[in-house]
Amino acid sequence: MRYSGFTLISQALKGHTGWRPVWRDVSPKSAYDVVIIGGGGHGLATAFYLAENHGIRNVAVLEKGYVGGGNVGRNTTIIRSNYLLDGNTQFYKFSMKLWEGLSQALNFNVMFSQRGMLITAHSADQFDAFSQRTNIMRLNGIDAQVLDGDEVRRLVPYLDFSETARFPVCGAISLGQAGTARHDAVAWGYARAADAHGVDIIQGCEVTGFVRDGERIVGVETTRGRIGAGKVGLAVAGHTSMLGRKAGLELPIESHILQAFVTEPIKPLVHQVVAYGRDHFYVSQSDKGGLVFGGGLDGYNSYAQRGNLGTVREVAEAAIALMPCISRLRILRHWGGVMDMTPDASPIICPTPIDGLYINGGWCYGGFKATPASGWCFAHTLATGAPHPLTAAYSLDRFRTGRTIDEAGTGPFAWLQ
Ligand code: FAD
Repeated sequence: MRYSGFTLISQALKGHTGWRPVWRDVSPKSAYDVVIIGGGGHGLATAFYLAENHGIRNVAVLEKGYVGGGNVGRNTTIIRSNYLLDGNTQFYKFSMKLWEGLSQALNFNVMFSQRGMLITAHSADQFDAFSQRTNIMRLNGIDAQVLDGDEVRRLVPYLDFSETARFPVCGAISLGQAGTARHDAVAWGYARAADAHGVDIIQGCEVTGFVRDGERIVGVETTRGRIGAGKVGLAVAGHTSMLGRKAGLELPIESHILQAFVTEPIKPLVHQVVAYGRDHFYVSQSDKGGLVFGGGLDGYNSYAQRGNLGTVREVAEAAIALMPCISRLRILRHWGGVMDMTPDASPIICPTPIDGLYINGGWCYGGFKATPASGWCFAHTLATGAPHPLTAAYSLDRFRTGRTIDEAGTGPFAWLQ
């Protein structure tokens, strides 16, 4: 759907009453070939690629709240491909490639900005570990470089380079392709494009249980009635273990809160994404001028979309240690989202032991950047019944066999995975 400049002006004068919704508001049908639970980035992307890549259009996305109300609209929008281990490296590289063409593929501007990212190093050991990681990334065709302290200072002079710095910066990894995208535009763009293929996006529809025929799952119970399904895909992020349990699956996932913050707007200062390699803090600057930042997880399990004050203080302390110049900025907003944490910090995309049920979850802190590749590969799995080659390692089985992809255990900035 396109609007002319004239339409924009006339809408402004008419009080914006004549806009058409960008996706249909439909009532659920009695059955679909595929039902996807969760209208976040991953669920919507899966629906789009099911239709676009596999011609499967009799699909519903069931969302208990509204599109964009979950983590897809709560994250800090950082996109990067900086993984070390086989299984992760190629998957995130593919995701980056999809991001680069996403606005064109969806015909919707997701404001993807490859402004680059720096992850700072604060000791000789860390610098060595960063060099090793960078070499591996380069061997895998990922745009990464190691910078020394002077080079970092030239790029980001506002960090604390004084003699009294708590943890002096001695270098950084620079990720040339990394950046940000407008998160809610990603949800809206996928929803609009999936809808254009005939996918039903049904908001305000909570899945409360599963319908079985013998051992096979053949549908879902929802707050809007029973809906039959040839296949059911779970894409509910922080609620994966809860829904898994309703289906009879005990999953190795814990839910924790991750918080984020935005400050009052300031003039352009932070031109890249900057992550503190010594503590829990990373920051970028939004197009409106606010500094968008976050840190580490709240330590306890929770399904509440709000965090605790102790973590706020820790993030603020880390922020001031790296960037003392922002100490007097005011925070405008602060929020939390529910993370689905796996033991090895790598995701799960696979058929489950329950016939008819497929899972996409365990994205931990980093699922936004995975959205396009996750949708692409999960759509393949739902369409063919088999894992996509890029996600073959993301099986549930790995927690039984011990073949985990323990990216979290690979180094001194594991929290960035
Ligand atoms: P969601 O948007 O949460 O979608 C899941 C949906 O399922 C929700 O809308 C929910 O309402 C719905 N649902 C749940 N239960 C049911 C049910 N029973 N029935 C129907 N619907 C249901 N990742 C990055 O890559 N970069 C970042 O910079 C980054 N920063 C983050 C910062 C914060 C503060 C947070 C919270 C997360 C961050 N993430 C980041 C992680 C990323 O946002 C998530 O991993 C990713 O969005 C999860 O996938 P999703 O978009 O499908 O999830």
